[in-house]
Amino acid sequence: MTLRLYDTATRTVRDFVPLVDGHASIYYCGATVQGAPHIGHLRSGLNFDILRRWLSHRGYDVTMVRNITDIDDKIIAKAAEAGRPWWAHAAIYEQAFRDGYQILGCLPPTVEPRATGHVTEMISLMQRLIDSGHAYPVAGDVYFDVRSFPEYGALSGQRIDEMLPAGDSVGDSRKRDPRDFALWKAAKPDEPSWPTPWGAGRPGWHLECSAMAGKYLGAQFDIHGGGLDLIFPHHENELAQSAAVGDGFAQYWLHNGWVTMAGEKMSKSLGNTVSVSAMAKQWRPVELRYYLGAAHYRSAIEYSPVALKEASVAYAKIENFVQRAVELVGRPELEPADLPDVFGKAMDDDLGVPQALAVVHNTRREGNIGLERGDQEIVSIALRRVLAMTSALGLNPLDWQASGDTGRQSALTSTVDRLVRLALQQRQDARLRKDYAASDAIRDALAEAGVLVEDTSDGPRWTLAPTTHSHDAQRDR
Ligand SMILES: [Zn+2]
Repeated sequence: MTLRLYDTATRTVRDFVPLVDGHASIYYCGATVQGAPHIGHLRSGLNFDILRRWLSHRGYDVTMVRNITDIDDKIIAKAAEAGRPWWAHAAIYEQAFRDGYQILGCLPPTVEPRATGHVTEMISLMQRLIDSGHAYPVAGDVYFDVRSFPEYGALSGQRIDEMLPAGDSVGDSRKRDPRDFALWKAAKPDEPSWPTPWGAGRPGWHLECSAMAGKYLGAQFDIHGGGLDLIFPHHENELAQSAAVGDGFAQYWLHNGWVTMAGEKMSKSLGNTVSVSAMAKQWRPVELRYYLGAAHYRSAIEYSPVALKEASVAYAKIENFVQRAVELVGRPELEPADLPDVFGKAMDDDLGVPQALAVVHNTRREGNIGLERGDQEIVSIALRRVLAMTSALGLNPLDWQASGDTGRQSALTSTVDRLVRLALQQRQDARLRKDYAASDAIRDALAEAGVLVEDTSDGPRWTLAPTTHSHDAQRDR
């Protein structure tokens, strides 16, 4: 079986052949840390986490770079609005993004470089571009000369004459062509700047990624990823900067679809975002991961609470099967053969997660039939398969339980603990005033709610009574 991936540059699904046998390198365009992440940002990070996990699963040693754009017009403007230094503003949202990725169970990248830490590499790339006639300085700005690079527009499938002027310097008459984009922007009063041979200033967005990809992954690497909206101008410009100086750059370009609301891309500027922290109050992180990861990475997800609820119900079916199966046959040690071929085929076909999840649910249904019949062998095989498949997707219920079941579940547990302690205190008070009828009534009410109370020398202790599952309620056929 060979992994095949849709490559935006060729507009075809191609066999994945890495530059170095057994190794896969990924550069993923991370956040511009101007504000809190919304679920559209995190879906993108999650899609590339699934790719990275699948490459590891297929035996590749993966190097993943996820950069942080920590200097940018928007960061400077938002920091000024908030009355804090730009670097403090960036640090707050850098952490918010990292927390968001982590909440959803995304593995940390191999390296997470910040743009401001790589000015030396940017200066050296600009020097190479200027020396080779692909860039020119104008009064402290440095521009890329798009006419010097005949392939400009190939990635996004546009002809140069039909393109709009570069958005970062519209109407700048000092440019050779209105489409020339800024590599470097001259310092403005009261704004952060770094010295260069062409004057003090700060990096343009596109230059950062070419410089950081080159530093960590070399002149060429396997996969470049990001959201669909990055194809133009960001990735087109990255490619131009690196390819113009002779770097091979990315061999595959992967782009994930948007999260939309009422058909519009979720974005800060449209004000139609759903924040991750708001979502995490209502839903368990693993449910969000299931919801955002379940669609094919190239398709759009129209955000809907109904669909999220359905995803949560679907995931609960997997959890219920795993829980009951483990109670019957114990937690197995997984082996590579536990992963069904049909699941592997779906994932190898451009990460076909919807088809892969269909295999998970079919296997779970078979396992439920085994449970109903008390057939340990069927249950054991289904359990191994479901755990192997959910592990590959970062959705193994046992792993999520072991990680402390963060979020809503732990908040719920501490709330219940406080309520039970309150009831126990009232029971204790009743006993002290020798009102045994009242103290017994409290104990019985707790028992009815599934709380078992044990009086110990250290005071009362409570536990949840073991639940008895109704097979009909749990089964989905
Ligand atoms: Zn980038």
